[in-house]
Amino acid sequence: MSWKLWIDGQWSDSRGGGVLEVENPATGEVFDEVVDGSVEDVDAAVQAAGRAFFDGRWSGLAPGERALALHRLGDLLEGHAEQFAKVESEDTGKPYAQNSLGGDLPFGVDNLRFFGAAARSVMGTAAGEWAAGYTSMLRKEPVGPVGQIAPWNYPLLMAIWKVGPALAAGCTTVLKPAPGTPRTALMLAELAKEAGIPDGVFNVVTGGNETGQALVEHPGLRMVSITGSTGTGKKVMRTAADTLKRVHLELGGKAPFVVFEDADMEALAEAAMIGACFNTGQDCTAATRVYAERGRYDETVEALVESFRGAVVGDPWDDDTLVGPLISAAQRDRVAGFVERAKGEGARVLTGGEIPAGLGQGYFYAPTVIVDADQRSEIVQSEVFGPVVVVLPFEGEEQAVQMGNDVVYGLAASLWTKDIGRAMRVAAGLEFGTVWVNDHIPLASEAPHGGFKQSGFGKDMSEEAVNDYRITKHVMIKHS
Ligand code: NAD
Repeated sequence: MSWKLWIDGQWSDSRGGGVLEVENPATGEVFDEVVDGSVEDVDAAVQAAGRAFFDGRWSGLAPGERALALHRLGDLLEGHAEQFAKVESEDTGKPYAQNSLGGDLPFGVDNLRFFGAAARSVMGTAAGEWAAGYTSMLRKEPVGPVGQIAPWNYPLLMAIWKVGPALAAGCTTVLKPAPGTPRTALMLAELAKEAGIPDGVFNVVTGGNETGQALVEHPGLRMVSITGSTGTGKKVMRTAADTLKRVHLELGGKAPFVVFEDADMEALAEAAMIGACFNTGQDCTAATRVYAERGRYDETVEALVESFRGAVVGDPWDDDTLVGPLISAAQRDRVAGFVERAKGEGARVLTGGEIPAGLGQGYFYAPTVIVDADQRSEIVQSEVFGPVVVVLPFEGEEQAVQMGNDVVYGLAASLWTKDIGRAMRVAAGLEFGTVWVNDHIPLASEAPHGGFKQSGFGKDMSEEAVNDYRITKHVMIKHS
């Protein structure tokens, strides 16, 4: 076994845990192993996080000292970018140049620098005389030791989006990465020690769903944050109810991409392809449902087919590759299953819908454009998590909003128009946590990212995320 757990600032042997294999999705080759953490491992990590929280070694530091450590972690990550990007691409099959080194790494560094700055914010504190003879103070305190659970699609970024705001707020954490993509989270925790983050503040227990379940059940944690599917989020919320933990849920999505008649066709065709195919469509904000206004429906379909055919699919180590493999054989079968069932219901596949020629090894799937599906059908309603888009026509603003909102999810949406009044009306009508106008996919560390409806609640990034890890205490002082 080449990896141990990271508990209390050091590599730690498992207490009876099993073994998890790490597979390269571009080749199907198993090349590494990590610990499948046991209940005892989770307990050891929670105990360490509890000690580190309650003795004040982190929460008791001045905000400026916590900020400095997070900035140092950002600098160290920047210095180790190539090493992290390589491991991230090995674990996930993400294109190294365009996705890992060119995308996730610089964004993760920027996220950490933002959280470093946010650690110094004392927003929310207030003092006042709200009852005669009393002075009241509001203290924003860290929630406590927290459990954090990450998915496999952006293993490093999701680890940073979890740990960054929790540490900025003064919490300590036990992070569980996704079973197949655990290595960059372990590496980040080791780097955190070098950055001066005290032992026990940032612990990592690798493992599968049962390890996650043990974390959610543990009475020593005050909050649990998970990024994952909506089904998992529901289970976590039910389990967390037993210990009445706070829950923070970043769940699935099914983003609409709404094209009005006056939209810039060239720009949107490129953005739809990137929006649907970046990270091989394994993105909670991926553009998955393109709604085109009737008058430009045919033109939109044609432009999308052309741009999807132009997407470079293949070897993650080739600089030109935009689309790598799906994460696993199971995920490729799942995506193919959605497409086959859509065809069975009468939808037509205009491009893709198959394993690309010459890419039979590894878990590749061609960028796919589907038409003639029904709004209520599975391919329109369910999260596919692959490079697959379905195009449907609409008539008028009201129907665009109605069809856009007609899913259980509410994470992200985009609309395309040159009419600013319409953009504002439609953005207000769409029930999604992020609405882009004339773009799809970009995010910023300062901007809150999170869902409406069954995409969950709580925010990633931004000051709001840090506040999700704080709790307000009212101190009321009688002075007469
Ligand atoms: P998943 O739900 O299968 O697993 C997510 C994590 O939860 C994993 O670490 C897993 O081991 C753990 N887990 C599973 N069952 C658990 C349980 N009962 N108790 C505790 N932990 C448990 O999701 P995935 O397949 O890894 O990731 C893809 C999903 O994540 C998609 O639905 C995607 O939309 C979502 N996602 C959402 C966002 C967002 O910001 N909203 C971002 C990225 C991914």
